[in-house]
Amino acid sequence: MADVQRSVSRELDRIAPVIDDLGRRFSDAGHELALVGGPVRDAMLGRQHNDLDFTTSARPEQTERLLQGWADAIWDMGRAFGTIGCRRGEWQVEITTYRSEAYDPTSRKPDVDFGDSLAGDLGRRDFTVNAMAVTVPGRQLEDPYGGIVDLAHQVLRTPGRPEDSFSDDPLRMMRAARFAAQLGFTVAPEVVDAMRAMAGRIEIISAERVRDELVKLVTAPYPRRGLALLVDTGLADLVLPELPALKLERDEHHRHKDVYEHTLTVLEQAIDLEPRLPGGGPDFVARFAALMHDVGKPRTRRFVDDGTVTFHHHDVVGAKMTRKRMKALRFSNDDIDAVGKLVELHLRFHGYGTGEWTDSAVRRYVRDAGDQLERLHVLTRADSTTRNKRKADRLQRTYDDLEARIAQLREQEELHSIRPDLDGNQIMEILGIGPGREVGAAYQFLLDLRMDNGPMSEDDARSALLAWWAGRVS
Ligand code: ATP
Ligand code: MG
Repeated sequence: MADVQRSVSRELDRIAPVIDDLGRRFSDAGHELALVGGPVRDAMLGRQHNDLDFTTSARPEQTERLLQGWADAIWDMGRAFGTIGCRRGEWQVEITTYRSEAYDPTSRKPDVDFGDSLAGDLGRRDFTVNAMAVTVPGRQLEDPYGGIVDLAHQVLRTPGRPEDSFSDDPLRMMRAARFAAQLGFTVAPEVVDAMRAMAGRIEIISAERVRDELVKLVTAPYPRRGLALLVDTGLADLVLPELPALKLERDEHHRHKDVYEHTLTVLEQAIDLEPRLPGGGPDFVARFAALMHDVGKPRTRRFVDDGTVTFHHHDVVGAKMTRKRMKALRFSNDDIDAVGKLVELHLRFHGYGTGEWTDSAVRRYVRDAGDQLERLHVLTRADSTTRNKRKADRLQRTYDDLEARIAQLREQEELHSIRPDLDGNQIMEILGIGPGREVGAAYQFLLDLRMDNGPMSEDDARSALLAWWAGRVS
């Protein structure tokens, strides 16, 4: 607890230039202002934020007036919802009027009622760890629902009854899974029960809002926690049914591995490989491709008479299913194309054997992967979950070999695409000769020069060509 207090006061001192100043502006005008939610929670966890969320008794137009002359830029984040955004220096600030919001179960639009007290506003927030505030400029901690205790126990609880909270806003069920994945917290058992009981209500939430929570969950530090929760509560059956469908009934002879467990392991292995990617991670596309790479398996599973099992074309079928799901979740076409392509290509490498591909097969692999090549390397390497160490090492080495060949071909191809600085027509014109062997010799001379010295200007190339021509023993 003392640690928490120290973390908080250190963070409050860091952001003092913003909160003291802004707090005084609001209190001078007779309004309450408090830092709330994410920044308070993260200050307690010792994490810094430059995004500062506040809650206030002021109405949006009053907030806007108070920000004028203080903020570098002000924008409307949704006046109907009471939120005004602004920037001052490096700080992003969002100020929302106290709310007491209820969801009409038959409608998709939240009814917003502005509230009149901080306690009331905190009571309608999603989780107790998000329902803490620090008033400014007084720096009084308000924690009416025991958020500090829950934070110490790393548990997500709702301020009131979870059923009421999820009935008011079913998106909070997705948020529970998202925060479990982001913070690594557990979700209180009564909250999990309510999620299970009320999962069906998620259908009144727009696909875009569900997608945004899913993206945050997948790019969080502990996605397995969030995904397991979605699957265990039945929420995944509604928002990402392809995932629980991977829990295939095992046939009695265990002829294939548990595809669901395999998938979560591939996801975690892909995360471990993210430092190889240009952005370094977290990388949504690579992670989502890992999650979806085998979704075609349940539909393509066939038990063959000889006692084996096959999943023919699960790559193609899975890519199609992935595109369809991402479309329903309103992902951008770029994201859909990228993930779809990765799922489609995730098996291609297995035709490489121990290095039998021709150069043209390697080139085709590179061309088909296009701008997803680096992610395809990550996905393919991650997609090996064998416990047989020798087999795993062999696969990694074979893939190293493929990557080396890609690099080698690239280098050669760059060399092949090098041209001399003058073309045949220019050579004939400069030397005053017609087509023939001498043009070829001049071309070769310029090409060698280009290889040795790199590119040169047309004038320099012309002088060099004339000097070579004059010095030639004919
Ligand atoms: P992030 O770091 O992702 O911004 P955050 O905690 O700030 O995390 P936001 O989604 O930005 O999360 O929400 C800000 C605050 O608003 C939350 O801490 C929570 O108190 C409250 N909140 C947001 N959405 C809801 C909701 N659907 N129901 C209840 N409270 C919510
Ligand atoms: Mg936030």
